[in-house]
Amino acid sequence: MKDGKVKPSEGLDHWLVEPDGEGVRDELALAEQIMNIMEQGILVWTADGICELHNTRIFDVLELNGDDLAIGTTREEFRDRAVARGEMSAEDREGSAARIKAHQPYSFDRHLPSGRVVLTNARPARGGGYVVTFTDVTRERAAARELTRAKREAEAAQKKSQEVLEQERARQVAARQLSELDEWLQSCQSLDELYMIVTRFMERLLPGSQGELYLYSNSRDGLVGTCNWNTTDLHHHVTADSCWSLRRGRSYEYSAEGLCFLCDHVADHDHKVAVKEYLCVPIVAHGDTVGLLHIRFGGKPGGAADLQHHGDLALRCAEHIAMAIANVKLRDELHDQSIRDPLTGLYNRRYFMDALRREIGVADGGGPGFGLISFDADKFKSFNDNHGHDAGDMVLRAISEQLITTFDPAAICCRMGGEEFAVCLPGKDLDQVEAAAEAMRQDIAALQIRTAYTVLPKVTVSAGVTAYGGGGGASPNSLLKCADDALYRAKDGGRNRVCRAEWGGPAAQG
Ligand code: GH3
Ligand code: MG
Ligand code: MG
Repeated sequence: MKDGKVKPSEGLDHWLVEPDGEGVRDELALAEQIMNIMEQGILVWTADGICELHNTRIFDVLELNGDDLAIGTTREEFRDRAVARGEMSAEDREGSAARIKAHQPYSFDRHLPSGRVVLTNARPARGGGYVVTFTDVTRERAAARELTRAKREAEAAQKKSQEVLEQERARQVAARQLSELDEWLQSCQSLDELYMIVTRFMERLLPGSQGELYLYSNSRDGLVGTCNWNTTDLHHHVTADSCWSLRRGRSYEYSAEGLCFLCDHVADHDHKVAVKEYLCVPIVAHGDTVGLLHIRFGGKPGGAADLQHHGDLALRCAEHIAMAIANVKLRDELHDQSIRDPLTGLYNRRYFMDALRREIGVADGGGPGFGLISFDADKFKSFNDNHGHDAGDMVLRAISEQLITTFDPAAICCRMGGEEFAVCLPGKDLDQVEAAAEAMRQDIAALQIRTAYTVLPKVTVSAGVTAYGGGGGASPNSLLKCADDALYRAKDGGRNRVCRAEWGGPAAQG
């Protein structure tokens, strides 16, 4: 060693075949020069792990100073220093020690304190020693790391855009289904049709969900289950205060993971599976709460994002359903208004004539015949004169209510106008309709009608009955005239009685 510098030739001396041979010395000097100008550090260990040769480059590559390495340094000293500086991991040390024992090649990266990375590559040499090269691979490793990072980022970006694409696709599908739902709901003509459409669409719009639609009963003392999907659950009676959404007037999202409370209508019901997430959405039409949409996600917890997505969709479904319910109800009301008498709620003349035409068609087609009653309140003008028009209206209403009690639900009861009524009794012959009219007459005669101040005098009716069995060429007007003829006879006969008339064909009715 001269000037603290290690000369590889010092290590090469003992390789000389002839120690004094000048030609060999020249070759060694050349080899020494070549080794020192190489990019890599080079080190040769003897079979005993003693440094017998190294180039000067190794000091730069491994950032060593003169005391760190010299001919004669042991591999253990060299490694202790590398481990102490944190260049070499304990695993690399153990791993390479095992390879050395087996006299096999080994390699690992050294991470120098300066941040540089040096590839240590050792190959077994003749006689049990090792030739080790040290290559600065800082740039290559950084480039590889950068490449991996860029790859990972590209994959993440692709995954993200795939997710966005899928979300967008799902959104478009949901939007299309919603508009389809809307179109179907708009063309609903009855609540039964609406229930069927809701059932079918909710299964598709919120796959995996279960749910029910509840509507307020007419008395508004609770909600009644009307339809459901993916479940057989359906409450017959839900009170408004058993649902947080109805109590709070806005949609309610329940998640078992959040700080939420189960609605009583959910807790009180045995749903067979644990309810982990659900939504309750009030159905509000024209500012009026008309019902409740309840959706469960018991089987498949989808997490907050899913609940949010389902929540948005469910809200929009609820809006569409609310609009449709309002439309159907309005249509029903208008239809009802067009076929019912406003004072009594009985069918009106127009509806009754249509119903008679239908029944005549059934009878003429070989189906069952029907009986017809035409009746009129007796001396009603003087009743009005004596007790006032309002009392007269009360009587007309009381008579109408009595008809609903006296006759079975198949009967079609109508106020033809003024104090005149008609009833069609499907399936009844002349004897049966006469008996039914007689029962009605007695029921009405027995009515006790109270005003705020007094009990009104009894009212009686006179009735004419006929029956039609088909094949007789009847029309609604001719049949009604037949029953009216009997009614006039009842009036002429002293009122408060029932008279019958055989249907004698259209000619007989003049
Ligand atoms: P009859 O026994 O012959 O049938 O005698 P009547 O007085 O009942 O018959 P009429 O046809 O002369 O009078 C019918 C009366 O019915 C006239 C009217 O004061 C009354 N009336 C008709 N429509 C209404 C109504 O909507 N409300 C009330 N309170 N009375 C009505
Ligand atoms: Mg009259
Ligand atoms: Mg009358």
